[in-house]
Amino acid sequence: MVQTQAENSPVNSALQNVLASVEKAAQIAGRAPDDITLIAVSKTRSAEEIAPLLQEGQRAFAENRVQEAQEKWPDLKKRYPDIELHMVGQLQSNKAADAVELFDVIHSVDRPSLVNALGKAMAETDRQPPCFIQVNIGDEKQKGGCAIGDLRALLELAAAQNIDIVGLMCVPPLEREPSPYFALLAKLATDHTLRGLSMGMSDDFPAAIKIGTTHIRVGSALFGGRD
Ligand SMILES: *Cc1c(COP(=O)(O)O)cnc(C)c1O
Repeated sequence: MVQTQAENSPVNSALQNVLASVEKAAQIAGRAPDDITLIAVSKTRSAEEIAPLLQEGQRAFAENRVQEAQEKWPDLKKRYPDIELHMVGQLQSNKAADAVELFDVIHSVDRPSLVNALGKAMAETDRQPPCFIQVNIGDEKQKGGCAIGDLRALLELAAAQNIDIVGLMCVPPLEREPSPYFALLAKLATDHTLRGLSMGMSDDFPAAIKIGTTHIRVGSALFGGRD
């Protein structure tokens, strides 16, 4: 959900600026802004840096490391029970149970061993967080994500493990025009009848919105640059 008006919001806060850009891109694409979930990527940011966004009404946040999330979010979740916490970083299989316990959505499912570990962890609790399959859309050696050619088999394994796969996620190659990669991910999602698309970051979310993304992951545009 995109919050268009929040209580106590300073007129030109970073959040309001990003939300205005989301609305503008959605309008150009003929889409409802409410169909796009803005996820504030809060990795490396302290609870003090996160607090103003919570006060402005932002509720979807993302982290890329389980341990960092465990240190920051349980307290914040007590104060704001409707927080929705997303996992967007590479996930080790031995952290699958911790991830299932803490995160409400997992975007980085990318290999059979992780699917099996998540399936087992979900079977042992009453938590079934919806998941995205991360696709290595630029076929880059150093990047996480499953190869395009392995996607069908991974989706079948996830279905066999009763994991609720809601869409596909990608991080396109740096320094390249992202739109062709976004379009490819959108086509793969359509081919597999998945509705969710997690693509678009601070520098390129308007392009992702035009290509149909449902979830954008925005860090520096909300919090400033990272070291
Ligand atoms: C850090 C990160 C983001 C946010 O990047 P910005 O460029 O700061 O918006 C989005 N997605 C993933 C997977 C990330 O690790």
